[in-house]
Amino acid sequence: SIPLSFFAGIGACSHEGILVKGSNYLEALSKCDTMVFDKTGTLTKGVFEVSEIKVNQGTREQLIEYAALAESYSSHPISLSLMKAYGKEMDKNRISQIEEISGHGIKAIVDGNRILAGNQLLMEKYQIPYKKEEVDSTIVYVSCNQQYLGAILISDVIKPTSSQAIQQLKKNGIKKTVMLTGDQKKVAIDVARELNIDCTYSQLLPDQKVEKVEALLKEQSKDGKLAFVGDGINDAPVLSRADIGIAMGALGSDAAIEAADVVLMDDDPLKIVQAMRISRKCIRIVY
Ligand code: ADP
Ligand code: MG
Repeated sequence: SIPLSFFAGIGACSHEGILVKGSNYLEALSKCDTMVFDKTGTLTKGVFEVSEIKVNQGTREQLIEYAALAESYSSHPISLSLMKAYGKEMDKNRISQIEEISGHGIKAIVDGNRILAGNQLLMEKYQIPYKKEEVDSTIVYVSCNQQYLGAILISDVIKPTSSQAIQQLKKNGIKKTVMLTGDQKKVAIDVARELNIDCTYSQLLPDQKVEKVEALLKEQSKDGKLAFVGDGINDAPVLSRADIGIAMGALGSDAAIEAADVVLMDDDPLKIVQAMRISRKCIRIVY
């Protein structure tokens, strides 16, 4: 039978906006020693500001308009940010096809033109003669019918409580912190350094994030558990693979909420520390 204090623990968590789907996950949390984080929207706000637009061909207005139109059906943090930066009403009738290529970006038909908006991998996949930018921000390259239009440089900010959360987690049993991201290396290294994250892997496709988590699971000690924390955009498969999948922000996709074992109602990383403390308290009462 399940000890009563686990129910109390689940209750205490839910009172804090932490939804735990079963007492086994609370127990696993108490034994968690490896915590793997997604970057965008998890450790960072996922709200990007445009810092620079580099035009290669056409006008600046056209570049940002095509990018915003192409992104207009997506709920990816980059898409939402580009639509906001464009700031004008968009006539969605101009879009006749849209395809979101996870870990790459968007392919869309706008005014009959094939628009691509995404990273280096996307440009290479479609053999666009783009000019690689050497900057430490996130880059959205934009092309129209094989012509390279230019790049939109965007930057995100670290959440105000991320640093404190990592520090506290290390004091509460986490021996190894890892960050996984599809973003470029320079951005990843900056964030990891600022937050004191032990280990970072960048430019990963969603499948490669799963492979990384599988490799980390193999390295785990017999009793140690691994948690993955994500914002739910593209990371449902990793959430289900980890011993404990933690989805942040109740606004995350339904697929993520479904795949997660623990759902945080808001997106404050300190909530993870709270969940761990509650779980460890339960264990002390039970044994
Ligand atoms: P993260 O690992 O940081 O959560 P994702 O796996 O969602 O990021 O995306 C990885 C990378 O793929 C992004 O950094 C970006 O370069 C590109 N990308 C993904 N979705 C989009 C999009 N909608 N528009 C432009 N670029 C995108
Ligand atoms: Mg993500």
